[in-house]
Amino acid sequence: MNTKKPMSLTSRVILGMVAGILTGFAIRSLFADNGFVDTYIVNGLFDVGGQIFVASLKMLVVPLVFVSLVCGTSSLKDLSTLGRMGGKTLAFYIATTTIAITFALVMGSVFQPGAGADLTAASSFKSAEAPSLGQVIINMFPTNPISSMAEGKTLQVIVFAVLFGIAISAAGKPGERIASVFADLNEVIMKLVALLMNLAPYGVFFLMAKLFTGLGLSAITNLAEYFLVLAGTLVLHGLVTYSLMLKGFTGLSPMTFLKKMEDAIMFAFSTASSNATIPVSMETAKNRMGVDNRISSFTIPLGATVNMDGTAIMQGVATAFIAQAFNIDLTMGDYLMVILTATLASIGTAGVPGVGLVMLAMVLNQVGLPLEGIALIMGVDRLLDMIRTAVNITGDNAVTVIVAKSEGALDEERFNNPLAGEKEEQVSLKHSKA
Ligand code: ASP
Repeated sequence: MNTKKPMSLTSRVILGMVAGILTGFAIRSLFADNGFVDTYIVNGLFDVGGQIFVASLKMLVVPLVFVSLVCGTSSLKDLSTLGRMGGKTLAFYIATTTIAITFALVMGSVFQPGAGADLTAASSFKSAEAPSLGQVIINMFPTNPISSMAEGKTLQVIVFAVLFGIAISAAGKPGERIASVFADLNEVIMKLVALLMNLAPYGVFFLMAKLFTGLGLSAITNLAEYFLVLAGTLVLHGLVTYSLMLKGFTGLSPMTFLKKMEDAIMFAFSTASSNATIPVSMETAKNRMGVDNRISSFTIPLGATVNMDGTAIMQGVATAFIAQAFNIDLTMGDYLMVILTATLASIGTAGVPGVGLVMLAMVLNQVGLPLEGIALIMGVDRLLDMIRTAVNITGDNAVTVIVAKSEGALDEERFNNPLAGEKEEQVSLKHSKA
């Protein structure tokens, strides 16, 4: 008789991740120039499997954000709650980003990763035009909600869903009927999230195996100092800053928080996309941490779109590195400028892989640093992107818990229960009779 407990989802995902990394390295060293392996395994099976996994996560984002946010806002008792919650959330998001970038600049100045690096730009880098702040704000408002959904414009979907939810709560009886449909829909979509999460170990395996087959680690040795200072700053911010904030504002245990973030962190790490991680971050906030849907349905998608502390840290360390490598001294005024623009640039960064690096151009432009500097660090960016995305979403969830607690919308018993929410991960496909 088999009495073994089934492995938890987290353990299975870790297994998938480690197996993927080892497989990637093994293929690199054993089948370096093997056309068959390259075509059919790495760019065939691994690529197809990984892309299907990421696609299925992204598939959930628009329906999930829309439905849960409509549910969340339609259940708000009065509009002032929404204003207060929104204000608090934004204030925390901006504050954490400012702390992150300041911390990054300090680390960049203390450890001087670019000092003495006699680097010349390998190739020229064409930067994308960074949009103006005014344009960013205008772009939040949809002209056609269906096309916003079709194009996956999260901020526009958020604005429409909030307005729709407000209208539902103002519409009396018809509003109540629609609200109950949305509540049911929400349950179904959360089930879908849980269902897809069960496939994650395989998806993560494919993503890691493909990535580590092609990852140029030699670039890391050349840029070892940059890599280490940045990775160290990211990890410190992820572990220390959020823990202090959580403890200071809520008194809750940071260890419990970090432990419960494990699934979301792994998803963010393997997809390098805050956006694709929204379903898992929301599931984590709701089921594992006990945050009421009214809060998480708003704060998580908003955070995944505008709150990028990890990205801001990269931009800070990269700016210091490039200035040092090109022997350009930054003044105190330049540093303040970097703090301001990196905060804006990280807000404008979409939660998809690699965009943070493109937005770095905006920061470098502001302080007159050569954009070619970006070409220098591009080679090691993918791995760092994975780490900073994990920090990005950890920041979203930390602020979510703080705001929830301050609004009396946190089920502390659930938060403190280490097993809470794990059951929901196991979805049975048998028809339920209930
Ligand atoms: N990949 C990051 C994210 O999705 C954004 C970036 O910094 O490139 O959060």
